[in-house]
Amino acid sequence: EIEVAIKVVVVGNGAVGKSSMIQRYCKGIFTKDYKKTIGVDFLERQIEVNGEDVRLMLWDTAGQEEFDAITRAYYRGAQACVVAFSTVDRDSFDAVTNWLQKVENEVGQIPSVLVQNKMDLTAESTVTQEETEELATKLNTRLYKTSVKENTNVNEVFRYLAELYLSQ
Ligand code: GDP
Ligand code: MG
Repeated sequence: EIEVAIKVVVVGNGAVGKSSMIQRYCKGIFTKDYKKTIGVDFLERQIEVNGEDVRLMLWDTAGQEEFDAITRAYYRGAQACVVAFSTVDRDSFDAVTNWLQKVENEVGQIPSVLVQNKMDLTAESTVTQEETEELATKLNTRLYKTSVKENTNVNEVFRYLAELYLSQ
């Protein structure tokens, strides 16, 4: 019996790995050519946090973010947020504050986490560790460094978010 269900929106520039992260977390798969979630608004996964059953509903933007055309329906009722950028995409890092702002404009402040994805490509990184830590401090969020490809730290992101939500 589920007592808690959390709508999680995953935002960030196109190609940072949002859809891959949702697929990885909910289906346990990684595909290089994954494009869009077809026919579904979200994927879900159930976890146990402090003895409570929690259902995480992870909403995917299905590529709309590339046209800056995310609809209100996407944000509506969001209870937690993942803001993602890619370690090899400077623009995606620079856009983080803006994405968080968009979410807050629609639903106010909600539990959020900052994710630096594609850490397997760290040799080609376009952001310094100092910069990412500075941003996390400025936004007052925890920073997770993930590789969806190598399945590093993905579970931790969502567990943390669920814990943060429950501790409000
Ligand atoms: P989205 O536009 O933010 O949903 O990004 P996608 O999930 O579609 O991913 C964009 C591309 O990045 C795809 O080719 C993915 O396979 C790739 N990708 C996602 N996560 C990682 C990662 O951790 N490392 C690497 N090397 N590639 C990744
Ligand atoms: Mg996508």
